[in-house]
Formats: sequence, C-alpha cells, structure tokens
Amino acid sequence: MIVLVAAGLDPSGGAGLLADLEALRAAGAEGWAVATALTAQGPRGARAMEPVPSGLVLRQIDALLDGARRRPRALKTGMLGSAENARAVAARFGAAPLARVPLVVDPVLRSSSGLPLLSDPLRRGPAAVLGPLLERAALATPNWPELEALAGRSLAGEAEAVAAARALPARAVLVKGGHREGEPVDLLVRGRSVVRFRGRRRPGTARGTGCRLASAIAALLARGAPLEEAIRWAKRHVERHLDSALGGRAG
Ligand code: PLP
Repeated sequence: MIVLVAAGLDPSGGAGLLADLEALRAAGAEGWAVATALTAQGPRGARAMEPVPSGLVLRQIDALLDGARRRPRALKTGMLGSAENARAVAARFGAAPLARVPLVVDPVLRSSSGLPLLSDPLRRGPAAVLGPLLERAALATPNWPELEALAGRSLAGEAEAVAAARALPARAVLVKGGHREGEPVDLLVRGRSVVRFRGRRRPGTARGTGCRLASAIAALLARGAPLEEAIRWAKRHVERHLDSALGGRAG
C-alpha cells in the first residue's frame, strides 16, 4: 500500500518527510516522498528554508507515476514551501490518475520555532494559497493557530472553531486542540457532525507530531479504514511517539 507524501525535508528527521515515512511504516504503508522544500533545522530550531521549484516538484510526481505498476492509495501534503508549489500540487492531485485518491492536507504554515514554511510573493492569505488543495481534500488537519490563520480571525472557543472549520472547503476538518490550555480535545467537523477526541496532556512536547498524525491517517485511509478509525489509530501512534520522545517522563 503506497501513500504519496509531498512535504519538506527536515534533515534532523524531527518533522517533515523523514517523520512522515516513519509514521507511514508504523501504520503498515510504504511512502513515496516528494520534496517540496529543503530546510536547515537542528536542536536550536529552524534556520532556513528554500522551496523546490514547482516544475521539479511536478517532475518528481510524474516520474513516480510514469510506468508504475502500483498507484498510491492515499495522498498527503505537509509543508509546501511556496504558493506556486501549493497550486502545482493541487493541480496534479486534481487530475487523472490521482483525482479520486483520498487526500489529507496538513496546512503547515510555520515551524514550531517560528520560521515561515509557506512563502507567497503575492502575500495572499493562507486560505487563498491553500484553497485549491483544501477543495480537493478528504481531510484537513489544522491546529488552532493554523485554523485561525485560515479563517483570518482569532477563534475564542469551540463553537467558533467549528464554524471556521465548516467554512473551509475540505470535506472534513480535524481541528487539533493541543495548542490550547487544559486537556487537549481534537474536533472532527464533517458537515453537521462534530466528533470529539479527548487526549491527555504530556509534560512536554516533541517536533513533528502534526506531520506524523496526518501521515498515519493517510496510511489508514489507504488501507480502507473509515475516517474516525483512521484518526483514532493515528492519535494513538502520535501518543506513543510522544511518550518515547519524552523518554518515559510522560509516565
Ligand atoms: N519542517 C518541516 C520540513 C515540516 O514539514 C514541518 C511540518 O510539516 C515542520 C518543520 C514543522 O514541524 P514542527 O512544528 O515540529 O517544527
């Protein structure tokens, strides 16, 4: 079972493509890793990022598909680097032979150390830049600040977040609550339905949890799991990763 991931390279493996591949393997899938950007990152944070030219992003996708005996069963995007890459990837994922393959969009806007990971020379908002990809998405996985950036306003509570999620063009939206105070609650918003996933706060954090979560969901979707089951499995995977990254401190 192959999942095609388009995301950035974090050479430390904390986040980005290397973390994606780990999550895919853990979920029983193989990965095709299309690089959309290179970054310079280490223990002291993210220092630089350079998008891959969009023509080369498309050539990576085309080369993988041309003559391939197997096709990806799910698609995932993480960091895209540039507005041009977002547009190019949306166009390829919207056309044959990928048009009907489930897509998970992790709307990555900046690293946790604050470096912007989606540059737009025209300075349009992230909703305009990511719009075509979100329209194509079976699931988008914004954290709270990303949902606020997409909505263009701050969101005071769950009701406002649900309304903002409903306004996005993705078929379903998983709003991740880890950036808020208190016990974390993720909300799966799909049409009129809202499903809550409660978590337990760990005494610390690790990088790449968003990348791993979206990739594990994509892997489960590739294997034919229903969306809620895919999310539950992926959350358990990320919790295991957090516990091992925190070295047992989490109990
Ligand atoms: N670097 C790359 C290459 C990424 O793809 C991502 C997330 O998708 C990040 C950094 C952000 O991860 P973190 O929030 O752990 O800094």
